[in-house]
Amino acid sequence: MSALLPTYARSDLVFERGEGAYLFTAEGERYLDFGSGVAVTSLGHVHPHLVEALTEQAKKLWHVSNLHRIPGQERLAERLCAASFATRVFFANSGTEAVENAVKFARAYTGRPAVIAFEGAFHGRTLATMAAGGQAKHLEGFGPPVDGFDQVEAGDIGAVDAAIGEATAGVLIEPIMGEGGMREVSWPFLRDLRALCDAKGILLLLDEVQTGIGRTGRLFAHEWAGITPDVMAVAKGLGSGFPVGACLTTEEVGLSMTAGSHGSTFGGNPLAMAVGNGVLDVVLAPGFLDHAAAMGLKLKQRLAALKDEHHTIIEEVRGQGLMLGLKCKVPNTRLVQALLDQRLLTVQAGDNVVRLLPPLIVDEAEIDLAATKLDAACAALARIERAGLADAGAARAQA
Ligand code: PLP
Repeated sequence: MSALLPTYARSDLVFERGEGAYLFTAEGERYLDFGSGVAVTSLGHVHPHLVEALTEQAKKLWHVSNLHRIPGQERLAERLCAASFATRVFFANSGTEAVENAVKFARAYTGRPAVIAFEGAFHGRTLATMAAGGQAKHLEGFGPPVDGFDQVEAGDIGAVDAAIGEATAGVLIEPIMGEGGMREVSWPFLRDLRALCDAKGILLLLDEVQTGIGRTGRLFAHEWAGITPDVMAVAKGLGSGFPVGACLTTEEVGLSMTAGSHGSTFGGNPLAMAVGNGVLDVVLAPGFLDHAAAMGLKLKQRLAALKDEHHTIIEEVRGQGLMLGLKCKVPNTRLVQALLDQRLLTVQAGDNVVRLLPPLIVDEAEIDLAATKLDAACAALARIERAGLADAGAARAQA
C-alpha cells in the first residue's frame, strides 16, 4: 500500500535513469519518451550542459532569499526580456504560480477584478487557476470557485467582445490548448484578441506554460501570430525538468506591483536560475529552434501518413512544432496503452487526444522509431477492434 495520495492514475513503470529522448527501467528496458514529463524535459533527459550548470551551481550556493540580489535571476530575466516583448520578469516555481501572477498583474494594473478565459482551457490547480479553467471536473468538491472568471468559446471573437464589461481586466488564453486536446487557437483569432484588448483597454494574458520555450518551433507560440501579449506565463520547458516558472510583462504593467505585493520563498532560486540559463544557452543557440521546427514538421508528416493508414484508429492530427496530438476514434487511453506496449511514452489529453511531446533535441532516427511504434500500436488496436466486431457479429448471428 502506498502512503501517497491517490491523485494520479499512475502506471506501474519505474524509471531509473534517462538519456536524451530515452528512459530506462532498472531492468534496462528502454522507452522512447515522447511525453517529456508532459512537455517539460525540453532538452531531453540529463542534458550534459544542464548537468554541468546545475552541479557547478550546487557546489557554490543553493538558496538565498529574494531579500538579496540573485545574479542568475537578473541574467535569466534579462535574457528572457531580450528574446521577447517583456521588460520585467517575476520568477516562480511552477506554471500555476506564473498564471496566478499574470492574473494578479491584470487586477493590479487595471484595478478591475474579472478575467475572460476559454472553454476547455487548463491553467493549473490552485483555486484561482482552476476557476480560470472553469472545468467542472476540476472544480467539483472544492467549494465556491474563485470569483472573477468567465469562460467563452475559443475562436468566437464576438463572444469575447460581448463578455467584456466594466469589471474586465483582461483575457487569458493558451495559444494551443494542451490539456484541452491540443486544440489550436487560430493565429487570426489571436490577432483579433490583441486588437480587441487594445480597443477596450484591457490586457492580453498568454499562458505559454506548455507552448513556450521552443515547443511549437518558435521560442514562444504567439510569435506565429505576429502579436505580443501584455503578460505571459511560462514554466515547464524553461527548467527542462528543474521546477521553475516565470511571469513576463511590460514595464508599464510590471510597475503596477511594488515591494511586498507579490513574493515567493523559492521563486528564482539560484539552482533553478542556473538551469534556466543553461536551457537558454542551448535553445537560443543559432539553428536550435530551426531544428525543433524541422523535427516537428517531419513528425507531423509521419503522423498524417499514419492517420491515412490507420483511419479506424486516428481521426485527426493536431498541433504545431513538437506539440502534436492525435484525436482518436478509439478511447485515447487504449492508444496510450498500446503505445506503452511498444515502449513509446505519450500523454493523454482532453477531447480524446493522445499528445506527442518529444524533447526538442529529438532527431530523425527517433522520429522514425516513434512512427514504427505508432504503426505497430495502431495495427494491434485495429486487430483487436476487428476481432471485437467479429465477436459481436457472431453473437448477433447466434441470438
Ligand atoms: N498552464 C498550462 C497551459 C499547463 O499546461 C499547465 C500544466 O500542465 C499549467 C498551466 C500548470 O502548470 P504547473 O503544473 O507547473 O503548475
